Amino acid sequence: MVICVFACAKTLMAMSISLYSYRIEVRCACQISYPWSIFFMIIDTHAHLMFPEFKDDLSEVLAAARVAGVEKIVNVGCSKESSKQAVEMARVDMAGGGFFLYATVGLHPYDALDATNELMRKWEKWILDDRDGGRKKIVAIGEIGLDYFKAKISHDEQKEAFRKQLQLAVKVGLPVIVHNREADDECLEILLEFSGKKSQLKVVFHCFGSNLEFARKVWSAGFMTSFTGIITYPNAVGLREVVKEVPMDKFMVETDCPYLAPQAYRGKRNEPAYVTEVAKMIAEVKGISVEEVGKVAVENSKRFFGF
Ligand SMILES: [Zn+2]
Repeated sequence: MVICVFACAKTLMAMSISLYSYRIEVRCACQISYPWSIFFMIIDTHAHLMFPEFKDDLSEVLAAARVAGVEKIVNVGCSKESSKQAVEMARVDMAGGGFFLYATVGLHPYDALDATNELMRKWEKWILDDRDGGRKKIVAIGEIGLDYFKAKISHDEQKEAFRKQLQLAVKVGLPVIVHNREADDECLEILLEFSGKKSQLKVVFHCFGSNLEFARKVWSAGFMTSFTGIITYPNAVGLREVVKEVPMDKFMVETDCPYLAPQAYRGKRNEPAYVTEVAKMIAEVKGISVEEVGKVAVENSKRFFGF
């Protein structure tokens, strides 16, 4: 690490180049640090870095994310195999000394038939064993939910897998990341069976894509909404209405990479660095600064995942 110290107009600043992250930091006397390239920090709350799209250049992708100001990434499992990979990748990151990459375990509705009691017991053990000086790397159950658009699994089988995984979340006290596609009412109904007085279940509707009326129901149930690059697409007018109204304590940002690259990178593989585009659009729609969006999104994400 190279450190040079100089005096600016009012405060002593230290500039350092971190060789680990390739990020240049500006650190002022009050200990707030900013990456050199932009002036806000952000958390990508939903990525799939175990997917084959990242197999050749994952370290460059992670370095680019740090340069862009991405403070943490939640690497989301969606099948038995990808959940295992997410946990392994987070452990490697922990061994590397950084609390940067986190994992979730869950079965997407496409893989609902794998939700056996045996798998739930296995994941419960992983979660209970997952401690490093009191800090955890498996931070949620997800992505789980209902998909009435594409999934070939019957609705009843999807609901059974959803409920089984919600039971696990309540048991181990982790929040859930929900995938909902064309199943608004049934999804919310099932979630309400598990929240409220009976438990403190925390829920985020990831890649929120429903209308404002449903968003209001989600917020009034105390649940969060998370936005992807879809909000930057020219035709996403209705979704930007949701963004405009979302309470400041009810949103997070994500990429869902390798899918859904924001408009500026449309047609390319998506990656965590591009989550800044989502924050910029939220700032534009709400008429506030992107620094404010970053600060609030980071606070919301930390409160939700407990990291
Ligand atoms: Zn996803």
